[in-house]
Amino acid sequence: MTDPERQNIESSLHETRVFPPRPAAELGMSHWVVDGREDYREQHRRAIEDPERFWGAVASELDWFEPFSRVLDWKAPDAKWFDGGVTNVCHNALDRQIAAGHGDEVALIWEGEPTPGGQPEVLRFTYRELHAEVCRFARALDALGVKKGDVVTIYMGMVPELAIAVLACARIGAPHSVIFGGFSAQAIVDRVQDASSQVIVTCDGSWRRGGVVPLKANVDQACATLEAKGHPVRDVVVVRRVGNDVDWHAGRDKEWSDLVADQAPDRAPEPMAAEDMLFLLYTSGSTGKPKGIVHTTGGYMVWTYFTARATFNLLPDEGQVYWCTADIGWITGHSYILYGLLPNRVPTIMYEGAPNAPDEGRFWEIIERHKVTHFYTAPTAIRAFMKWGDKHVTGKDLSSLKVLGTVGEPINPEAWAWYHRVIGRERCPIVDTWWQTETGGHMLTPLPGVTATKPGSCTTPMIGVDAAIVDAGTFREVEPGGGGLLVIRRPWPGMLRGIHGDRQRFVDTYWHNDRGYYVAGDGARQDEDGFFWIMGRVDDVINVSGHRIGTMEVESALVGHPAVVEAAVVGMPHEIKGTGIAAFCTLEPHWAAKFDADPKAVTDALRAHVAKEIGPFAKPDALRFADGLPKTRSGKIMRRLLRDVAAGIDGHQDTTTLEDRGVLENLRACQVY
Ligand code: ATP
Ligand code: MG
Repeated sequence: MTDPERQNIESSLHETRVFPPRPAAELGMSHWVVDGREDYREQHRRAIEDPERFWGAVASELDWFEPFSRVLDWKAPDAKWFDGGVTNVCHNALDRQIAAGHGDEVALIWEGEPTPGGQPEVLRFTYRELHAEVCRFARALDALGVKKGDVVTIYMGMVPELAIAVLACARIGAPHSVIFGGFSAQAIVDRVQDASSQVIVTCDGSWRRGGVVPLKANVDQACATLEAKGHPVRDVVVVRRVGNDVDWHAGRDKEWSDLVADQAPDRAPEPMAAEDMLFLLYTSGSTGKPKGIVHTTGGYMVWTYFTARATFNLLPDEGQVYWCTADIGWITGHSYILYGLLPNRVPTIMYEGAPNAPDEGRFWEIIERHKVTHFYTAPTAIRAFMKWGDKHVTGKDLSSLKVLGTVGEPINPEAWAWYHRVIGRERCPIVDTWWQTETGGHMLTPLPGVTATKPGSCTTPMIGVDAAIVDAGTFREVEPGGGGLLVIRRPWPGMLRGIHGDRQRFVDTYWHNDRGYYVAGDGARQDEDGFFWIMGRVDDVINVSGHRIGTMEVESALVGHPAVVEAAVVGMPHEIKGTGIAAFCTLEPHWAAKFDADPKAVTDALRAHVAKEIGPFAKPDALRFADGLPKTRSGKIMRRLLRDVAAGIDGHQDTTTLEDRGVLENLRACQVY
């Protein structure tokens, strides 16, 4: 990174730069879906004042077997959307496109994990082809005796059969529970048991940077534990992907290829009531034991269809190619690889592998090869690319890109600026989308063509979203500039309908107030333009000698120093201040060498930097340096585990979603400065 740029970003916390929206034609698009600020304000107002009419009209763009009689029936915390309506999400994703004459257009592009030295493996499915595969597997599930309402567990790598299995479940009305393929046997046990699922769809193994992840062996181990707990799994369906040796349990285990071999390529979509469950998905566990979030058919379908189109400016017939790098095991993959994309008729890419295999240029090659127009990824990936250096990007043709997105965590302004300059070539709008597994789809996000962007802010509410910042005690709205709880004051179609099997936790976690507000669990503030800035989890806002500090602000200041690649900040017990600040950092390689030679010079520089950026009260009391930070497998820093390390205790927390246990051990052992 050049020095002038560094200086520019130096004051990232007092970020004042504003990037105005640009005409669609400048980016080679015929128009913006939401046509400017006025149109946005008008639609936002209408959707909130008259949800019946607004969402009724959006829903009517999709097919219903029986029309809904009522758009919204709301008694906090229970919402019914599109009551009386009967539809099928898979039908709207596939059959509807075929019926309209688009059956031969590309629906899904799959790119495989690179084989060393080999050509990239690419498969393209038209709507018709995908429909046929989905129907075959839907019939296979029928043949196994899976009925409407039975939960099917899916634990696979990012192979096409994963998308096919998900859509087949939706087709027959069997809720899917997708478990990310990076999870361990224990995570499978917990989720299968919680969901009372009898059927698991898996692979022999999956590729990961050329190595094999033994998925089937993990399933076998989980099944043994489940059996011992009196919860036997009836069927395990296995896709052969990597050809590793697997144990075979006759009677229980079935080959995917055998099951689909003789099935006809059609299967009628199950008529689904709007409030019939579409899927269960467990949250990433950043803040505690994962919650089984329930989403239903009609509202989720309408919400993902609408938000995908508005946020990314999806336009069929304009050569758009959309790529979201998330795994389908996360809500991002559910909503913005599959469910939001297929009904909008823009081809969606699914990539099997890692960002740095065979090398760090892999993502940019994929963009070049498929002429990707929309690219959606996570801040953690962007920070990794910054660390790996611009050299992997320069020389790649990224001129097809039009809209960039981020999701999953607050993006620090420095990473935003890099994304904007190096990937977006200062042309592409960036949509920083704030949302949750619970919300089903985007809640706070810029809309391209509408919203000016400020690096680090997820800007303004989605159409139909009534967001506010309230005081944690009184639930009254706080003045602009003040921090508080982020709440949503009215229901929206994609909202969760519950935590599976735990009504009390659902009420306590999200609805603990008498106003019927949805409490997101994140702290945020609004600036004088009404823009939202996420400060982090409510648990992560700390009070140091009377100053309320978002840990995210301190992290952003640390990452703003050239020495620091990634930082995590938590509160820790402190004799004098009550709460002190503990920071965990990974260093840029040159600075790591400097640090080895003279640790004090580096720690002094970092403290001075934070003091300058935020104020002396925000200086970290304890600094630790390590090669990695504990993250969930979706790439989020698990601050709750760091709080234990900082406090010097072992809180025996749920670590099933932790990516690498070794990282935690290293941090416990490392020196405190
Ligand atoms: P758990 O609820 O089990 O602790 P989780 O909250 O990490 O897990 P997700 O639903 O995957 O599970 O993540 C949603 C959270 O991610 C949000 O509440 C927020 O903290 C964070 N987040 C997502 N997108 C953004 C964003 N654009 N800016 C800031 N934070 C974001
Ligand atoms: Mg959460």
